Amino acid sequence: MPSDIDIAQQATLKHITDIAARLGLSDESVIPYGRYKAKIDLDANPQLQAHPDGKLILVTAISPTPAGEGKTTTTVGLGDALQRLGKRAVICLREPSMGPVFGMKGGAAGGGYAQVVPMEDINLHFTGDFAAIALAHNLLAAMIDNHIHHGNALQIDPRQVTWKRVMDMNDRALRQVVIGLGGKVNGQPREDGFDIVVASEVMAVFCLADSLHDLRERLGNIVIGYSLNGHPVTARDLKAHGAMAVLLKDAIKPNLVQTLEHTPALLHGGPFANIAHGCNSVIATRAALKLGEIVITEAGFGADLGAEKFIDIKCRKAGLKPDACVIVATIRALKYHGGQEISALSQENLQALALGIANLEKHLENVTQQYGLPAVVALNRFDHDTAAELALLTERMARRGVEVVLAEHWAKGSAGAEKLAKSVLSLVESAQAQMRYVYADADSLWEKLGKVARNIYGAVEVHAPRRVRAMIDKLQTDGYGHYPVCIAKTQYSFSTDASQRGLPHEHILTVRAVRLCAGAEFVVMICDDIMTMPGLPKEPCATRIDIDDEGRVTGLY
Ligand code: ADP
Ligand code: MG
Repeated sequence: MPSDIDIAQQATLKHITDIAARLGLSDESVIPYGRYKAKIDLDANPQLQAHPDGKLILVTAISPTPAGEGKTTTTVGLGDALQRLGKRAVICLREPSMGPVFGMKGGAAGGGYAQVVPMEDINLHFTGDFAAIALAHNLLAAMIDNHIHHGNALQIDPRQVTWKRVMDMNDRALRQVVIGLGGKVNGQPREDGFDIVVASEVMAVFCLADSLHDLRERLGNIVIGYSLNGHPVTARDLKAHGAMAVLLKDAIKPNLVQTLEHTPALLHGGPFANIAHGCNSVIATRAALKLGEIVITEAGFGADLGAEKFIDIKCRKAGLKPDACVIVATIRALKYHGGQEISALSQENLQALALGIANLEKHLENVTQQYGLPAVVALNRFDHDTAAELALLTERMARRGVEVVLAEHWAKGSAGAEKLAKSVLSLVESAQAQMRYVYADADSLWEKLGKVARNIYGAVEVHAPRRVRAMIDKLQTDGYGHYPVCIAKTQYSFSTDASQRGLPHEHILTVRAVRLCAGAEFVVMICDDIMTMPGLPKEPCATRIDIDDEGRVTGLY
């Protein structure tokens, strides 16, 4: 099997205006970025609003291994297979962050014969949205320190500035820094730090806003820290939100690309699901529902993280309701959850598999019982999966009345996911979806946290140091209690300890810090040691990425 990048580079792409035309988009609404990427100006298509909404399919997964279990690949393969069956399918994905591209996991454009292209462009800079988001974020940071330097009329307490700086790279050395050194002309020294762009509140605001107007308002609502007498200070107080919105005026338009089989895909926004809310933009999803008969979208990491936030944050805000859910599982990850070492995942081990299936069963229970969505398990097939392993998984799921569909789109493209597409269509036609939130708006922040921890993660208790409890209580009394919670925790386990694989019991959720996101309109609860600025591994992917004299990129995957 050729590498992802070899397959992507050998593909014959259609001009992006052809893809847009197939969606019924007028020429004026397509803003090409070269030949194979475009931004879509939705305002140039006012007639779209009258279209009925298509069906919405959520692709989620079991708790992953560090390699990823194939959600993006499956989202693309399923989209292609639905198109192959004659459906007007539209794929909605997040834009990749360069942290994982150069770090450990690699790109996020799918894999094998189920990819969105042009793969190098999508994984590197793309249409510049992340750069614009980082600039908007850092403009606000610069305006805060500038305000303090020029007399600090708002009486911002330099020790209570919560707005950090961001960049789209894994760089642990920047997690905690001191700025403003070098004397009076260089501003006031204070402690600061960097987050990765995908954890920025501007990214969350960008993904949850439903219009440019809403974007500007939400940017204005961002709380950057507190004044000396304890009052929240906003981006609006600093008069920064207008200029921030200007920096985002092009980025806020969704990006159109195609799959290897020319299915249209909207890639827009890209918060991680472990440290942020994990779904593509509301603007892109809504547009896709108007443009397509069926929309397939991915929420990040396992169904405890991305899917929970998709429902409790994105669907709640945007009034969306998925019609069915695909849970991606791999035999290798299930064996990992049953105790098999990463280096041995290609070897058959029925005992480990039998144990590890507990992880899938809990995710399945969450999706069907807690979120109220009908689900099919897509077994993303790897070469080394054995017949005995496949039979064991199928039999265990059959006991629960759940179908396991062998999905082979990675190796075979749309033909390999046809069966999955048919199962999804029959789930949609059965109209069983009764989407439910995990908690109500009226629950207190602490109750919301407890409901997700107990009902979704299976935790027995929630702990928080007194300082954190006091902060949560203050947010509640300050009038933010109706916000959803966005729990930041490891993706590798239902618990907050990445080493507890499978279905951990008796675990306790420990909240280390709380962040108010008044622009995104949620409260982030940071658990245990989860980092909002990742580090690079010992051998980062960057060491293998290169370019030849003809400009051909190698080593991206
Ligand atoms: P996720 O979205 O769940 O994080 P991805 O779809 O990005 O996962 O896939 C992660 C990596 O695994 C990609 O490099 C992809 O090429 C590879 N991959 C996915 N499915 C398969 C498969 N069936 N066999 C081999 N490699 C696969
Ligand atoms: Mg993915």
